[in-house]
Amino acid sequence: MKIIAGNWKMNGTRAALDEMITALGNVDTKNRMILCVPFTMLRPVNGAVKIGAQDISSHDHGAYTGEISGGMLTDAGASYVIVGHSERRAYHNESNADVCAKATAALQAGLVPIICVGETMDEKNADRTMEIIEHGVRESVPQSGGDVIVAYEPRWAIGAGLTPSDDEIASAHTLIANTLADMGRGGTPVLYGASVKGNNAAQIMAIDHVDGVLVGGASLKPDDFIPIITSVK
Ligand code: PEP
Repeated sequence: MKIIAGNWKMNGTRAALDEMITALGNVDTKNRMILCVPFTMLRPVNGAVKIGAQDISSHDHGAYTGEISGGMLTDAGASYVIVGHSERRAYHNESNADVCAKATAALQAGLVPIICVGETMDEKNADRTMEIIEHGVRESVPQSGGDVIVAYEPRWAIGAGLTPSDDEIASAHTLIANTLADMGRGGTPVLYGASVKGNNAAQIMAIDHVDGVLVGGASLKPDDFIPIITSVK
């Protein structure tokens, strides 16, 4: 069983989500399907597809105009939330400490945080990939609390049609799995994300310690997303 999570970013409509949920409802799979959608599209969904958000406030209520708390996300029907996505880190200056606070808030609200870590192109070129990943995990993943998911997303590859080599993905995922074990979180699922498509998903998910994928662009249309889900048993 793999975890296949879609990240719709700031795309889609409620009608498009209805269509996607109906289409995924007809897919014969044991894989766990998650759709992380904009706040306005969150709603309770019965069935195989689980719904997630893409951000969360680290506060639980109060004078934080424009913020959305974990309790609000669960009330709206979410069971997952992405935290620390590359675009949040880049455009909103989110640090590992910010991400950890958001992941902690998610756990307190009963949500499963999908915690993203990964290196930029500059960090990769400076040979800092492993260091950035290990620090990302140690500093972004809460020490205690319920289940989490970690997503390795090489930031230079997101939306760029680029993919690291299988060996690079294997090294990153092995490091993440070992770091999580050292933190007492052995067995935490580790997803790979960045430019996953129907034609590379099965190969990526065959790599050691790749427990599923986080998919951006190719999660928006059933014709692109379903082949990723059905590419693995
Ligand atoms: C993402 O935004 O998490 C992502 C993986 O995007 P894409 O698949 O479009 O590279």
